[in-house]
Amino acid sequence: MEENCMELPMLKNYINGEWKNSESTESGDVWCPATGEKIAQVPYATEAELDSAVAAAKEAFWEWRCTPPLSRARYLFRLKELFEESFEDISRVLVTEQGKTIDESRGEVRRMIENVEHATGVTTMMAGYCLEDIAQDIDCYAERQPLGVFGCIAPFNFPAMVPWWFLPYAIVSGNTFVVKPSEQVPMTQTRIFEVVDELDLPEGVLNMVHGSRNVVNAMLQNPDIKGISFVGQTSTARYIYKMCGETGKRAQALGGAKNCVVVMPDADLDKGMPSLITSFYGCAGERCLSGSILVAVGDVYDELKEKFSAAAKALRVGDGLDEATQMGPVISASHKERVLGYIEKGLAEGAKLILDGRGIQVEGYPNGFFIGPTILDEVTPDMTVAREEIFGPVVTLIHVKDLDEAIELTNSRGFANAFCLYTSSGKTAREVKYRVAPSMIGINIGIAAPMSFFPFGGIGESFFGDLKGHGREIFQFFTDTKVTITRWF
Ligand code: NAD
Repeated sequence: MEENCMELPMLKNYINGEWKNSESTESGDVWCPATGEKIAQVPYATEAELDSAVAAAKEAFWEWRCTPPLSRARYLFRLKELFEESFEDISRVLVTEQGKTIDESRGEVRRMIENVEHATGVTTMMAGYCLEDIAQDIDCYAERQPLGVFGCIAPFNFPAMVPWWFLPYAIVSGNTFVVKPSEQVPMTQTRIFEVVDELDLPEGVLNMVHGSRNVVNAMLQNPDIKGISFVGQTSTARYIYKMCGETGKRAQALGGAKNCVVVMPDADLDKGMPSLITSFYGCAGERCLSGSILVAVGDVYDELKEKFSAAAKALRVGDGLDEATQMGPVISASHKERVLGYIEKGLAEGAKLILDGRGIQVEGYPNGFFIGPTILDEVTPDMTVAREEIFGPVVTLIHVKDLDEAIELTNSRGFANAFCLYTSSGKTAREVKYRVAPSMIGINIGIAAPMSFFPFGGIGESFFGDLKGHGREIFQFFTDTKVTITRWF
């Protein structure tokens, strides 16, 4: 890794409609994963700075809450236009600090914008219901009301999109909001907030505070935050959910994954192969929807292994800003070491390496955090690499005898985020949908990513809470249903 000798920019917080330098003495480095260079510094804001953002959001709440929903939605219509104008710029910042390819970044920013679009339907989706004459001359109304300040704590792998799974719905419902981006990728959300700043939203409605665990803990302790939307590793998600319980906050905590992709003997391998490859190696495997275990059922094993390995080997690995690149680096030097450690562990436990991405050299990028496509074969369900989330471009190939064994394997992982099945049988697909635990299912689709108008999230170790990200349900998370029973004499 090389250090950039030029002075690095220190990012700012966005509090009460203003960019503010942090007074914290603690900060972290932001790296470009392709070059292995430091590109910025991120402050680890103080507790007082987080509290001031929450205070600004609280102060803004009442007037914003009294603004008609359609007027609130009009800010989002305008924001969508502003995002379209800066679409390419945001996408490029994302590549620079996160490492994914430019096309993957564009896809992510597009998904972010789709949430803004979907949230503009607030007048329908936030509406309550009523019934007259629940008893003689008595009527009953159920209305959704905003609650106050909400917060989001985001992971490193989707720096643009993840906060926007929640934020547009929170504010369009009349709440105010504080975002804490991942300290590993704080530049993308900073660029996004530069666009937000052009919007002239009332001060305090949207705030962003950079930092690490200290800011998370300050959010958890602040009594004026009514609810938290968290996305990250399962261990952190469990902690956030527990703490929100203790401090009386609403919580939706989305955690890690270990997704099985099951290939049946009747699958059309040639048509399915492009999406199978993207499932495992897209975003360098750093996706909660990524395929992790490739499950070959019965006699598809030999052909699948051969065709999948050939396609994986052909992937072009490089800098995400190069349009020809098909897979970028992983997020950091330490994460690279962690993923390499899993490969070693797999070998030590008896797996066979049939495609080895460990020594990859990318021309012109000697210090990048690259790992080439890797396949571990002869994996068994009890091995560490088949149980823990690797979060890198490492496929664990498991051969099972039949569908029952594939379903048993899937349902015994603990995590239950996503699942994919490749088959040409509608009957098998229907049966699998019934029997597997994960909540997001792809049939002949490798990344079963729900769009903004469907809920996003898993079950089991992959999700703590009940109301998931976006979809219709999200309006329930951000509102209280107030019931009024009336009689007029
Ligand atoms: P992470 O849990 O390390 O960090 C997420 C956030 O929590 C960051 O903002 C970080 O500052 C904070 N944090 C981390 N450790 C903390 C601690 N001990 N106390 C308080 N705050 C803490 O997650 P990550 O590595 O940034 O993200 C990758 C993970 O996110 C993967 O496990 C992936 O599967 C998961 N993920 C899940 C989904 C989903 O929809 N289920 C979507 C995206 C990512």
